[in-house]
Amino acid sequence: MRAVQIYDTTLRDGCQAEDIALTLEDKLRIAERLDAFGVDYVEGGWPGSNPRDEAFFDAIRTRALTRIKVAAFGSTRRAGVRASEDKNLDKLLRARTPVVTIFGKSWDLHVRDDLRIPLSENLEVIHDTVRYLKRHVDEVIYDAEHFFDGYRANPAFALDCVRAAADAGADLLCLCDTNGGRMPWEIAAALDAVRAAVPTPLGIHCHNDAELAVANSLIAVQHGATQVQGTINGVGERCGNVNLCSVIANLQLKMGYQVIGAANLRRLRELSRFVDELANVEPNKRQAYVGQSAFAHKGGVHVAAVQRNPRTYEHIDPAAVGNQQRVLVSDLSGRANILYKAKQFGVDLEKLDGHVRHLVDEVKRLEHQGFQFEGAEASLELRMHRVQHGPLRYFELVQFRVVDEKGYRRLVIGERGGVSVQTDERIEHDPASAWAAVMLKGPNGEIEHTAAEGNGPVNALDTALRRALTRFYPRIDEVRLLDYKVRVLGDGEGSAAPVRVLIESGDAEARWGTVGVSLNVVEASWQALVDSFEYKLYKDAKRGSARKRPRRTRAPRAPRTRERGRPARTR
Ligand SMILES: [Zn+2]
Repeated sequence: MRAVQIYDTTLRDGCQAEDIALTLEDKLRIAERLDAFGVDYVEGGWPGSNPRDEAFFDAIRTRALTRIKVAAFGSTRRAGVRASEDKNLDKLLRARTPVVTIFGKSWDLHVRDDLRIPLSENLEVIHDTVRYLKRHVDEVIYDAEHFFDGYRANPAFALDCVRAAADAGADLLCLCDTNGGRMPWEIAAALDAVRAAVPTPLGIHCHNDAELAVANSLIAVQHGATQVQGTINGVGERCGNVNLCSVIANLQLKMGYQVIGAANLRRLRELSRFVDELANVEPNKRQAYVGQSAFAHKGGVHVAAVQRNPRTYEHIDPAAVGNQQRVLVSDLSGRANILYKAKQFGVDLEKLDGHVRHLVDEVKRLEHQGFQFEGAEASLELRMHRVQHGPLRYFELVQFRVVDEKGYRRLVIGERGGVSVQTDERIEHDPASAWAAVMLKGPNGEIEHTAAEGNGPVNALDTALRRALTRFYPRIDEVRLLDYKVRVLGDGEGSAAPVRVLIESGDAEARWGTVGVSLNVVEASWQALVDSFEYKLYKDAKRGSARKRPRRTRAPRAPRTRERGRPARTR
């Protein structure tokens, strides 16, 4: 089987993405994970550009890596300076990596307008830099920046540039679509030309500005490239680098290349999630192969068909990349979806049988009101349970009251010149100006009455309810609110329209979503909050009674420095 090397630059090019910042420890953990996954190279950073990257290279030497080769990245020497005297090359070598990746210019426009040196001098810069590095490092990869734009503008010069690197002993020439704007057929033609001009192995490094990075990388492989450079989940400058998750899956599952082995491929989704988690990025649902929706079926016809044979609407077996088939419950769906969900929740199907019609009608009725269970499966599971067994009796609401205040004016009576005067003075409230009082009836009929302050009405209500419930059920304390979303439904009614509140909660073992709908945002939030706490008690009880059937769960995010998912102040 033909092999293609995977060269990861998440830690260097990926970190140039907007909103992505990895700590040193994050970078080390990602490098170790890539190693375990079977990636061939990891580019750790640019030692000349920032001290954190230098620290990475010191730290990574102490980690036990099994196969991955660590590369340091840098630029060709400055014009007019000898390679041995170039400060940045010196820093590169001090990183003491087995591989150095050096980038140089291939586009005459850049040489003239950016470097402002004669074209011939650029060839000397490339040749001299690569030759110098080859004397000190095992492996030198030459990244031909803007190669495809350069080849389009001045093919002879672009080829001269890669020839200079090849003649100086570069181990691999990586051709870069740095601006991400070239078409697949242009990539193919340029690869053919370079292959005819030099014997050195070729690589491909694509950016995604025309959404063609994956296509361009695959066609480059088809035309002889033996290494693909990219990032996990496609993070990177502007629209990103090529997404290695898609590249790896396509090479291995569609094109028959040996990339990382079938067993590791089954951990692709896990790797993708791991990088999102560390980068504190919300995973892209619609990401090919690994996204949450990649194998999610909603239309009733699709659902019925995939249950007969998954291949009817799935291009691969989701398990091959560690993903799974999902069936969404929506008003497009019927009996098949409800049964699928019931099975997933572990509901006794025989006992459910008489209730299915009722459940389908109930779901349709609720969805008509604006409920949506796709992100709130816990609310659906509770409803299924209630249809079969009647309401859960953890607690009963007696009353709640929420007060929200904003700045107001206070009347001040004073005296001026012996005359009594009235003035008003503005009082600015601090944000914690909402409070809530909750009165509940507990499992044995006892009344609990609590009050709490919060940064908004929902936060205050959450805190008061939690405080009251914790008296009866101490484990409520483990529940964390991870996300809170409000969506205004209906059009044109503005603030008089109903709202849907989606809450995501978690504890040490699981995450679950709940939903509430009302004309009143506090009431909608209350419904979702109650479902969230009830679900916690319900699932813990279920686990206690049936330990042999663990639910598929995802551990909640570790607390990050950027505050997420706090109940926001609402309207
Ligand atoms: Zn790049």
